[in-house]
Amino acid sequence: MNDIISKIKSLAIKKTNIMEVCGTHTMAIASSGIKSLLPKNINLISGPGCPVCVTPAGIIDSAIELAKNKYIVATFGDMLKVPGSISSLEKEKSSGCDIRILYSAGDSIKIAKNNPKKEVVFVGVGFETTSPTIAATVKFADKEKIKNFSVIPAFKLIPPALKIILEQKKIKIDALILPGHVSAIIGARPYGFISNKFKTPAVITGFEPSDILEGIFLILKQIKSNKPEIEIQYKRAVKPQGNPFAVKLLYSVFEETDSQWRGIGIIKNSGLKFTKKYENYDALKKFKIKLKYIKEPAGCLCGKVLTGIAKPQQCGYFGKNCTPLNPIGPCMVSSEGTCAAYYKYGF
Ligand code: SF4
Repeated sequence: MNDIISKIKSLAIKKTNIMEVCGTHTMAIASSGIKSLLPKNINLISGPGCPVCVTPAGIIDSAIELAKNKYIVATFGDMLKVPGSISSLEKEKSSGCDIRILYSAGDSIKIAKNNPKKEVVFVGVGFETTSPTIAATVKFADKEKIKNFSVIPAFKLIPPALKIILEQKKIKIDALILPGHVSAIIGARPYGFISNKFKTPAVITGFEPSDILEGIFLILKQIKSNKPEIEIQYKRAVKPQGNPFAVKLLYSVFEETDSQWRGIGIIKNSGLKFTKKYENYDALKKFKIKLKYIKEPAGCLCGKVLTGIAKPQQCGYFGKNCTPLNPIGPCMVSSEGTCAAYYKYGF
């Protein structure tokens, strides 16, 4: 560890803003105390890679509406506490709504089979890491002719969000630590625009502290040589071509669509909708739900935190009115949220 830190120090000759895109990296950096080991001129900035944080409040409101209509709503635990416009799935669960917490999307099929007279709606949240497994679940439901199962499609794609952040230039980003899990699916190629168009170094990095430090070292080497590229540090999990089987599976059920990111706005081709063949499994179509656009609570800086423009402590609510027990914005409640990381581990 000391060796890699010395190497980083020898290359850190100017102020360098490095965005760690993924919420899992944000948590790993905060919990391991990496920031305290780095030279002061290396500034780590958190990015938009927390799927729960970027899921619009309208999705949560729609899931609550369905649960109040006596449907079974199935979700990963991370979504429970996230505030919608007036309530959360957790509050509605404690008021008697049938909301189930799942460890895998496949469990929602078991619930649907065990409750043939009830509709089971899965809240489909996640990035490219999650969506192939949901695609597999939908295909399985189709094969088994399970009709009482559907998905609220709220999936997001990482590269279009990075493109917007780099295009808008609201903050100077010198380099990117790219997500390990998403990249295990999509590989390195979809990030090509980062080094080609924006001339920005980027390294796909693993999640151990030693991985992250090596990722930072590789970034500094690229900056020194002035040869930006998409490099893979996390070679034990990521191949340049990604996982073509998973990508094919994903696009056999879903196709790209413009998508609303909470606190950020609509990003072109950054979400997934069902293809015609599987649209019977689209809960929004099935139950004729029109997603409402809901503004973030006044003063909540989640949108700015998610794009690196603000640090959590710049939000007036941070640690006062907004805590993990009483969250105002999603970034405080997700296990990958930047505000949650800063609250738990300090900054
Ligand atoms: S502290 Fe709370 S209100 Fe402020 S940005 Fe973070 S989550 Fe949003």
